[in-house]
Amino acid sequence: MSAESLADDIYSALRQVLGSVAGVRSLHEPEFAGNEWKYTRECLDTGWVSSVGAYVDLFERNLAAYTGATHAVVTANGTAALHTCLMLAGVQGGDEVLVPTLTFIATANAVSYCGAIPHFVDSSTQTLGLDAEALRRHLEDVADMRAGECVNRTSGRRIRAVVPMHTFGHPVDIDRLLAVANTFNLAVVEDAAESLGSLYRGRHTGTFGEVSALSFNGNKIVTTGGGGAILTNDPRLAARAKHLTTTARVTHGWEFTHDEIGYNYRMPNINAAVGCGQLENLAAFVTRKRALAARYIEGFRGLKGAAIFRECEFARSNYWLNTLILDEPDTQLRDVVLTHLNHRGFAARPAWTLMHRLPMYSRCPCAPLAVAERLEAQIINLPSSAKLADP
Ligand SMILES: *Cc1c(COP(=O)(O)O)cnc(C)c1O
Repeated sequence: MSAESLADDIYSALRQVLGSVAGVRSLHEPEFAGNEWKYTRECLDTGWVSSVGAYVDLFERNLAAYTGATHAVVTANGTAALHTCLMLAGVQGGDEVLVPTLTFIATANAVSYCGAIPHFVDSSTQTLGLDAEALRRHLEDVADMRAGECVNRTSGRRIRAVVPMHTFGHPVDIDRLLAVANTFNLAVVEDAAESLGSLYRGRHTGTFGEVSALSFNGNKIVTTGGGGAILTNDPRLAARAKHLTTTARVTHGWEFTHDEIGYNYRMPNINAAVGCGQLENLAAFVTRKRALAARYIEGFRGLKGAAIFRECEFARSNYWLNTLILDEPDTQLRDVVLTHLNHRGFAARPAWTLMHRLPMYSRCPCAPLAVAERLEAQIINLPSSAKLADP
């Protein structure tokens, strides 16, 4: 089959799922149909616009309640949350941190902000996330346990942590990953930036690792304009997260004093107000996005040459993005389809360029990355806004 005819078939299936074209279908649009205006107005009317305020506290409490984490600490963005999580996990300058190569740049950059080195690992075709068994084989190959610490035999550096990322909202097989992390004494920091609302065996993603990071960027399932959060069940880590993200300021009635180098990573009250409004609609967003995914799965069922990615049996995904997987990895074919769809007003997108191909990360340590390299040439993300599910 030619690339053009596959592109035509995909376009027809898309039109069938989304209806006839009227304007561009963006990849993911935010939606503010709840109390966002009301809460934001209240911030402006009362003057509580900055990093302290009732909505910051409320948003943190509601996030903890929704996810089942005992503590949530909100931050300026998801990257800041990840950076803080890695510090909380004890990542230090010169350490290595295991990161999937198939991820958004923030996962690798946050490791660099700690002065640590990302060590790239492969993904699973079942979850699109970190492959625990491949990771185990790789560590058995390259790592030694020395005095209880995992050490990369080649570089001599300590491997301190692993950062699973729940790709496009789909949970990784976290039980298997926790077992590997346990064998090699690695801290688990979940990058749950894309998976708010996604469950693994009935439990919310981002509550399995010691700490985890959420994002409320404009394209995520829930947005605060820009924002992020740290989840943890450890009260000590939660207190330390608050401290580090609040310039390590020592609480005092009127004195300004700080006991270490901290960060101005707080979320302003205005953004938290938007977040409170958004969170009230999260369950409805998830329902509509799952309905859209069901329509995609049904609408593309007869297609030859590609199929819609589906959640695993252990997962209840938020289907943040709907993903079409080409049967064969073929970058040229992928780009023909992408060009075709974009010309016709559908904002289809490839996955990210793999981290180990980027100039600043091309010399980092790597596991074999064959699956991620195949996926990179197979993945096409389709318009996925919740409103596309509406009749
Ligand atoms: C969105 C995202 C982040 C955080 O991004 P911010 O824009 O800083 O909020 C981190 N990791 C992944 C995988 C993401 O998709």
